Amino acid sequence: MSAAELYDFIVIGAGVQGSFTAYQLATRNKKTLLLEQFTLPHTRGSSHGQTRLIRKAYEQDFYTQMMNECYELWAKLERETGATLYRRTGLLVMGPESSQGYLGFKKSLEKNKTPMVVLTPENFNQHIPNVILADGDGAFVDTTAGVLYADRALKVVQGQFQKLGGVIKDQEKVTDIKPGPIVTVTTSAGVYQAKGVVITAGPWAKTLLAHVGIQLPLQVVRINVCYWKEKIADTYHVKKRFPCFLLTEGDEAKSHIYGLPSNEYPGLMKICYHSGTETDPDQRDKLTDKSDVDILQRYIARHLPGLIPQPAVVESCMYTVTPDHHFVLDCHPAHGNIVIGAGFSGHGFKFGPMVGKLLCELSLGEVPSYDLSPFRISRFQTNIKSSL
Ligand SMILES: Cc1cc2nc3c(=O)[nH]c(=O)nc-3n(C[C@H](O)[C@H](O)[C@H](O)COP(=O)(O)OP(=O)(O)OC[C@H]3O[C@@H](n4cnc5c(N)ncnc54)[C@H](O)[C@@H]3O)c2cc1C
Repeated sequence: MSAAELYDFIVIGAGVQGSFTAYQLATRNKKTLLLEQFTLPHTRGSSHGQTRLIRKAYEQDFYTQMMNECYELWAKLERETGATLYRRTGLLVMGPESSQGYLGFKKSLEKNKTPMVVLTPENFNQHIPNVILADGDGAFVDTTAGVLYADRALKVVQGQFQKLGGVIKDQEKVTDIKPGPIVTVTTSAGVYQAKGVVITAGPWAKTLLAHVGIQLPLQVVRINVCYWKEKIADTYHVKKRFPCFLLTEGDEAKSHIYGLPSNEYPGLMKICYHSGTETDPDQRDKLTDKSDVDILQRYIARHLPGLIPQPAVVESCMYTVTPDHHFVLDCHPAHGNIVIGAGFSGHGFKFGPMVGKLLCELSLGEVPSYDLSPFRISRFQTNIKSSL
């Protein structure tokens, strides 16, 4: 093997989490290789698409607290590159007023002194026209929330990584990982070695983790990404200051329903159900289950009178979900130089810069900037092969 193929770190998977981790390692002057199985950019994982929601409203304080720094990291990347990655729109949170979910969001924002505006049934329509609040629902706006330009963010962070000397090799599927003081990574095109490896393989994490003898309870689900046509163009447009929204639960929905103002496709608003059907990441196009679309249709017909309750565009994406819906950010229990970022459970994009920083700190053996106990592997009954 030539000397050029020995790296300080190899990051496997160039989605949002792997790209930010590689970038962070490069900022610390580490010679880093980012490997990706598909040709970049691609739409076959979890990080593609034009937009994602960013918010501080969370039921758990630890996410809200991490988001404070995360907003700063997004802004820093914007300053460094001149790219617009974030647009503030606010997030309208609605849900049964005394339900645990709705109150959890509200209390976390109050406790963390995050700016918010509480709306009453009386003044709701004055602030939010063209939305019908369900009887008994409360509503407030997290005014710090907004939209992230997802595809652009990936392009920008990968570009910054390369400017710092980082190497990206796409169209190289990792087929084997051999742990050791120097880790050997085999791909469809070559063999590489590094002092440490970070696995950020999104829906394929289970497959890759099997190579290093660990099984995590990760479930991959297909999400139908639905866009709904406005009856009158721009009714819910971002330029008209229509906010993102999140319904915590309701008659129609056991899981969240969330939406983003019309922006990416002219006249279409993105509204999705935060749940889907289990799938194999390589077979997701075979799934035809549309029960989530039925739920959305019923909700839209009742509460968003400015939209045609038939999806105009349906794309697909995948969540990789843990049993408690919290991330996995940890070192391999038997091999400290293999770091794992997985199970982002459908809400990880906004944390990309923070996840990158934390996985970088773990890789360098530093004390992480945040308490990572909610994200440890030891919270699961994991199956680890000690022979490896
Ligand atoms: C419809 C939808 C809406 C969402 N909305 C939001 C939102 O509003 N806000 C938010 O914060 N989050 C949101 N998320 C979640 C967020 O997008 C994900 O948590 C995040 O993109 C996960 O990133 P990742 O890097 O872990 O995975 P991925 O983006 O899937 O990246 C993993 C990469 O690893 C590569 N890979 C896998 N195996 C190999 C291998 N063997 N060799 C080489 N490369 C490999 C894959 O090809 C892939 O590119 C949403 C997700 C979806 C699907």
